[in-house]
Amino acid sequence: MINVLFSAAPARWDQYNAALRTAFKNASLDVNLSREFEDPKDVDYLVIAPNGPITDFSPFTNAKAALNLWAGVESLMPNPTLTMPLARMVDSGLSEGMREYVCGHALRYHLEMDNFICAKGTEWRYQVPPLARHRTVGILGLGELGSACAQALTGLGFNTLGWSRTPKEIANVKCYSGTEGLAELLSQTEILVLLLPLTAQTENVINAETLAMLPKGARIINPGRGALIDDDALLAALNTGHIAHATLDVFRVEPLPSDHPYWHCDNVTITPHNASETRADTSSEIIADNIRRSEAGEPLRFLVDRSAGY
Ligand code: NDP
Repeated sequence: MINVLFSAAPARWDQYNAALRTAFKNASLDVNLSREFEDPKDVDYLVIAPNGPITDFSPFTNAKAALNLWAGVESLMPNPTLTMPLARMVDSGLSEGMREYVCGHALRYHLEMDNFICAKGTEWRYQVPPLARHRTVGILGLGELGSACAQALTGLGFNTLGWSRTPKEIANVKCYSGTEGLAELLSQTEILVLLLPLTAQTENVINAETLAMLPKGARIINPGRGALIDDDALLAALNTGHIAHATLDVFRVEPLPSDHPYWHCDNVTITPHNASETRADTSSEIIADNIRRSEAGEPLRFLVDRSAGY
């Protein structure tokens, strides 16, 4: 019998209880799944979320791994008690949702939809919209989500550029890395998508200097993490019109405080950190497969590289 402790916000239990049990059964795993174990030493695996009840992991001395329900791990990284192998969530449902969010907002910008949706009056303003192949989208972060979005945008015809820490090759996507690569990408990008993890290296990657590298009138879509952006620099660029519009899903403080200037910017769209959500059915299969692998002595998938911070 494998003991799996579920430690996430109570509402998650309702979503995951049945889905995990089904996934364990389908993986032929004999699991005792519970939200509490009398003796922490009995726990073999922890299924966790950064907003879960456990913050001190030191009593789980026999745990073989912690399996995160979230893709981002920045809030877990500083926890000195979380010493066991940590896997982050890579879930097809998460990728699907992010693809839809990014493509939806990129198409909104590309087709200048606001001009029509928000237009008042009776003026017939005919104009031919450009084709996606004449529009350049740059994506910072070419991991699970960034590369899924890059492929979808390419499929729609966009001229797609991407930037990552290590060099990448993705069909029909011009890939860049390094500081010079970032400058080259930004200088061509009309719609910028941020899908980087938050680490010491990526914090404030979008700042006054990098914003100035974007062409005038560029748009920004940020479903990555709020702290990737220097907010004061973005607000200044939105104010001058250098950045025409930003769609922000994530913020340094969430929920975004009611007195935050972003709420009062006409050229900012705020979404409530719902760009994409881990789906219980597909992510439970990933968790079950990782436990099966671990029990079979195979390497776990999606392990966090603690030295890189993601
Ligand atoms: P991955 O770890 O798969 O990909 C991260 C990408 O960022 C990789 O391409 C990586 O490069 C690149 N990267 C990391 N550090 C740097 C750096 N210093 N310079 C340049 N590139 C860098 O993550 P995911 O795609 O799964 O997720 C990305 C982020 O999306 C998550 O960390 C989370 O913050 C956010 N997210 C937001 C959600 C929402 O609803 N808003 C939902 C889910 C995730 P390399 O390929 O070389 O490793």
